[in-house]
Amino acid sequence: MINNPQNHNDKKFVPKRSDSFGHNHANPQPHQTSRSFSATVNHVNTGTKSFVAENLNKPETPKKNLVFIRKGQSSHSHSAQNTSHRNAPKKHGVRKVTSEFAAKKEQIIPPLAAGNIRIIPLGGVEQIGKNMTAIEYGDDIIVIDAGIQFKTEETPGIDYILPNTKYLEQRKGKIRCLVITHGHLDHIGAIPFIMESLGNPPIYTREFGALLIKKRQAEFPHLPELNIKMIDKNTDFLPITQNLKIKFFGITHAIPDSTGVIIETPFGDIVSTGDVRVDNVNGVPKEKEFEQYKVFKNRKVLMLMMDSTGIEKPGWGISEDQVIETIDNVAKNVPGRIIIATFSSQVERVLRFIKIAEKYGKKLVIEGRSMKNNMEIIKFLKLGDTKHIIPVEEMQDYPPHKLMMLATGAQGEEFAALMRMANNSHKYVKLNKTDTIILSSSVIPGNERSVAGLKDNLFRHDSKIITYSDTDVHAGGHGKRGELEWIHKQIPYKFFMPIHGHHYMLKMHAELSISNGAPRENVIVPDNGSIVEITDGGTKIKMLKEKAPAGIVMVDGFSVGDVQEVVIRDRQMLAQDGMFVIIASIDVNTGKLKKSPDIISRGFVYLKESQDLLKNTRFIIKKTIEEGAVGNPINFDMLKDTITDNVSRYLFQETAKKPMVIPVVIGV
Ligand SMILES: [Zn+2]
Ligand SMILES: [Zn+2]
Repeated sequence: MINNPQNHNDKKFVPKRSDSFGHNHANPQPHQTSRSFSATVNHVNTGTKSFVAENLNKPETPKKNLVFIRKGQSSHSHSAQNTSHRNAPKKHGVRKVTSEFAAKKEQIIPPLAAGNIRIIPLGGVEQIGKNMTAIEYGDDIIVIDAGIQFKTEETPGIDYILPNTKYLEQRKGKIRCLVITHGHLDHIGAIPFIMESLGNPPIYTREFGALLIKKRQAEFPHLPELNIKMIDKNTDFLPITQNLKIKFFGITHAIPDSTGVIIETPFGDIVSTGDVRVDNVNGVPKEKEFEQYKVFKNRKVLMLMMDSTGIEKPGWGISEDQVIETIDNVAKNVPGRIIIATFSSQVERVLRFIKIAEKYGKKLVIEGRSMKNNMEIIKFLKLGDTKHIIPVEEMQDYPPHKLMMLATGAQGEEFAALMRMANNSHKYVKLNKTDTIILSSSVIPGNERSVAGLKDNLFRHDSKIITYSDTDVHAGGHGKRGELEWIHKQIPYKFFMPIHGHHYMLKMHAELSISNGAPRENVIVPDNGSIVEITDGGTKIKMLKEKAPAGIVMVDGFSVGDVQEVVIRDRQMLAQDGMFVIIASIDVNTGKLKKSPDIISRGFVYLKESQDLLKNTRFIIKKTIEEGAVGNPINFDMLKDTITDNVSRYLFQETAKKPMVIPVVIGV
């Protein structure tokens, strides 16, 4: 989602043995390869080195309350994980690091009063991702979804962000089940990391979601087996406890078996649509849409929770049929190969691409790990005919106009198939002017720059490029405002709580509800951890002033122990101002420098053109050491502290930058 913080310009500065740089025998290797965001690929961190022990820059006051989950069996197994390939499946267990940097005291949450229903969005209401909502009544809790969010600019190098499940852990004996709306990672991705601490409750899901959950779980062989209960959308209300029943209802999204959830309580239904859109032709919903919402004809819906992701876009989305028709037309007329890049999560569309290839007698090549994973499930469930799929190595055996390729990487992900084709590093595919490339996806906010880079690279070839902005080759999986409004009318409800989206999206969705006639006091816009209660026999709604713990929980590739928050701050600092390493050898007898100190920097300033800065810095180091290296033995820790302080202050004064200053002082 974000650009790699590593500044590639640094490669210009290769410290060589010369007077101006000192004697740089200790030239550190550049960091690992950069990582990129991918909609569905689970990647393993290649690991970044941390200089925690040496970093004497005082960290700022923590902004957020952080909790870390550590992957791996023990903190001593770093090296093994460090070498794991970024896309390699995780072959290790999950371990939780209990270092919570709880700056603020945990609030005492009042017990749930008899007859009240508590609804707590634990994630997904201040961001896109990490969706999770808990419904609590009496002695029972039902949890809906357990998703991840991908790293943000505030968490460089982090693999995933999880919902904070502390509230649930403290009440784990009450958790009766986890209900999954669909198999996207922002709804199932957290399962391997949290199920154990929730006491491994049964997971209710439909088939496609079940297979994706199992596939992901297989990457964590150390974890206990999940108790997955597959249910069908037509299954009637299923009693979970004496007071609570659940039922799925079909909705339209982008992946097979997408579903909404009804939780029946003694006071009425709590309904969550999950991710949702409305299949339509020019703003007229298809018959199947009316069918799907018929279940609400004679129901008393107490509260509706609905996806808000698409609220900003007015009107109705184009129909998926239109997308397919456009692409079908292109496929029919192309002179050569057709390469379609889309989200692998758009499984339903991928199914229709498979049919188009078949229709025109084209062989189909699937590129990208997540795309191949989904294809396995498609094959397993016999959702489509896959006999015309060929491996990429066999492409050359067919004439170009008999070839169609589905690839990941429409978001400009650095290592995805399409990007490799675009920058000529794909082993089997060299683009040429008879190729037609379709970008059948929109740009996820935040990916604009990487997509522009992808397009730049693609347009350097003479291939024909078709994007969603000039042709109807993409429809989103999340309903636009018109679609959401239509759904509001299909489900008559008393209370409304928008979910799935940034705060502003939730606010916009709340306004939509109010403009459709919901009394303002019946509409609640929560934050992560907000405790919403329906009281007085289902007639009133309120938000408690106390909140469930909502600090950020992260998964990092490997960790350095309980000081991980420092690691994140180091990464941010390195990304912003780089680092500045000082290597000084001192004669322990005289307290004098043995020679001029070595200086190595990365991502700070171009040292070759900063001779004065270097000269003065050396002078400061020399002076600091001569004044500080007194006493026997010399207090090296204090000396390093002072060097850091003095050098940092000087560098800031001269450059307005605050690189991470790392002094290495060696007594000889
Ligand atoms: Zn989804
Ligand atoms: Zn989602």
